[in-house]
Amino acid sequence: MIDIKHTVEIVIVGGGMIGAALASGLAKHGFEVVVLEQAPPPMFDPLSNPDLRISAITAASVTFLKKLEVWPRVLVMRCAPYRTQELWEYQIARVRFDAQSLGLSELGYMVENHVLKYALSQQLHHQSVPIFYKTRLIDVQKRKDTWNIILDDGTNLQALLVVGADGAHSQVRKLVNIGCYSGQYTQSCMLISVYCNYHPGDSTWQQLTPHGPRAFLPLFGCWALLVWYDQPARLNSLQGLTMTQLKKEIQIHFPSRVRTVTPLATTVLRFYRSHAKHYILAGLALVGDAAHTLHPLAGQGVNLGYRDVSALMEVLREARQNSDQWASVEVLQRYQDKRKKDNYLMQNGIDLLHVAFSHKCLPLKMVRNAGLIIADRAGQLKKDMLSYGLGL
Ligand SMILES: Cc1cc2nc3c(=O)[nH]c(=O)nc-3n(C[C@H](O)[C@H](O)[C@H](O)COP(=O)(O)OP(=O)(O)OC[C@H]3O[C@@H](n4cnc5c(N)ncnc54)[C@H](O)[C@@H]3O)c2cc1C
Repeated sequence: MIDIKHTVEIVIVGGGMIGAALASGLAKHGFEVVVLEQAPPPMFDPLSNPDLRISAITAASVTFLKKLEVWPRVLVMRCAPYRTQELWEYQIARVRFDAQSLGLSELGYMVENHVLKYALSQQLHHQSVPIFYKTRLIDVQKRKDTWNIILDDGTNLQALLVVGADGAHSQVRKLVNIGCYSGQYTQSCMLISVYCNYHPGDSTWQQLTPHGPRAFLPLFGCWALLVWYDQPARLNSLQGLTMTQLKKEIQIHFPSRVRTVTPLATTVLRFYRSHAKHYILAGLALVGDAAHTLHPLAGQGVNLGYRDVSALMEVLREARQNSDQWASVEVLQRYQDKRKKDNYLMQNGIDLLHVAFSHKCLPLKMVRNAGLIIADRAGQLKKDMLSYGLGL
């Protein structure tokens, strides 16, 4: 049972990659923050094989994590920079983005989710932000100017602001009856960690096929992650194969530039598109996947989550500085205004790309490949697209 009797300023439900970052940032701005999280991140083991869950963290998100003093903690564990990003259906029509074109040393880093979560938990510990693990949420009830958070061990926490950072199936969002537009993609993806017989380099690439993209993410050492998008039935049958059989399937169905790799672990994931109808109520806000989820092909979920976190932190900090009621609906509306349109734009843009490349009809094939050729030669527009994708 949590022994906090007074009204806490901010309770964040969910201490994942987004909730923990928000807690750190708000605590730095002097807010009193308490985090409730279901499961502690596993300790980092430098000798372990890579986590199957990897996030491409863009240069802008790295800058944000540096401000939180989290990034040096990631660097002393492990991550891998990527400097180019390529996308094609046929080799002749390929878009290639590179860090140099924007004067950057890298576009971003491939980071194992459990490394980032562990780094964030270390930082919260360093800042003495209380994080309560293995909590089970029962209800979130509105009182006059506070929220009452009820846990299954009988704990009652009062908070001026509750933040739902509890992921795609957000319990907070459901308990306070915020509706959600949602849908399931027809494709799933198989994540395959592979050991390469060469250094995987610093280029991440993706071939778009009508069955779904095939992606390559370079990791530390000789490790890489392959992402195989396809129909759930096809991926389930692949999961039944031995690693030797899977290696042969990779050689047949991935571009030859993947060369010789040895698969060592796999998992299959389903993913959803969702968008909360509102991100806010009086004294309550949703951030990250609790507010929106999108197709993972562009690797944007965490990065959009960090844009939410930056916006919410800024709005709350400014309101407190101006002696405004910082948990009021008027103030939180500023956060929603800053983020909702941007998240919709990214979500719809990625869906458009996904749908356009899922069809087998010849005229559409010609148009989309012409689109890639034009995009690759688009000069300033190409740089603008890259800057937008990187959140710069
Ligand atoms: C295959 C795949 C690849 C992806 N690749 C990328 C990528 O390359 N780059 C990128 O930016 N994004 C990527 N994403 C998206 C990214 O994983 C998500 O956007 C990100 O995990 C969202 O973080 P979050 O903290 O909002 O939610 P989550 O990661 O879901 O974390 C929610 C946290 O809340 C906790 N929680 C849940 N319910 C409760 C409760 N009731 N009480 C207390 N705690 C609770 C959970 O334990 C968890 O720690 C990918 C997604 C998928 C599926």
